[in-house]
Amino acid sequence: MKKEDIITLPNPHLRQKSTKVHVVTDETIQLIKDMTNAALDWEDSRPHEISAALAAVQVDRLERVVIIRSDFDNKSNREFTALINPEIIKGESGKNTDFEGCLSVKSVYGKIPRWNKVRVKALDTEGNEIRLKAEGFLARVIQHEIDHTNGLCIVDHIKNDKKAFFTLDENGELQPLDYDKNIKNNSELWPDND
Ligand SMILES: [Zn+2]
Repeated sequence: MKKEDIITLPNPHLRQKSTKVHVVTDETIQLIKDMTNAALDWEDSRPHEISAALAAVQVDRLERVVIIRSDFDNKSNREFTALINPEIIKGESGKNTDFEGCLSVKSVYGKIPRWNKVRVKALDTEGNEIRLKAEGFLARVIQHEIDHTNGLCIVDHIKNDKKAFFTLDENGELQPLDYDKNIKNNSELWPDND
């Protein structure tokens, strides 16, 4: 798959719940490979951004599968770890607010509140149940991807927060967006608004 296979708002599939994977099959493994290729193709087209993770719904497959970059700090490491049916067991240590972007939300970054620490349950690619604890940026990324499996996008967390919307300028710097002008009545972000 290529970056063109990544769907973006206002595609309504991004607001749908994905279904559980009952058995991890060769098709699941192929899906993970396809997602990895799409994420890397997207990254290769962007000078200032990294593909930190991707959920299957973003390539228009409504299955609870996500991939997460194995090393966020080193772009030359192009490996991802797949989590199947990932679920947050518990959010801990309060929340913090930080910038997030999404491959499916064009040109908009948001300041999104997330749990500082999460405990997560999932299946690995062999179908074994795994449990993990995450904190910091990894915890944030996992919460973002699990949101996708539940039909939630970053903007849905901050819909009425006038100061939470940003965009990247040509130098890769975040700049605030004018909420009333760019966000409030944006039919790409909120296609169901009257
Ligand atoms: Zn996303």
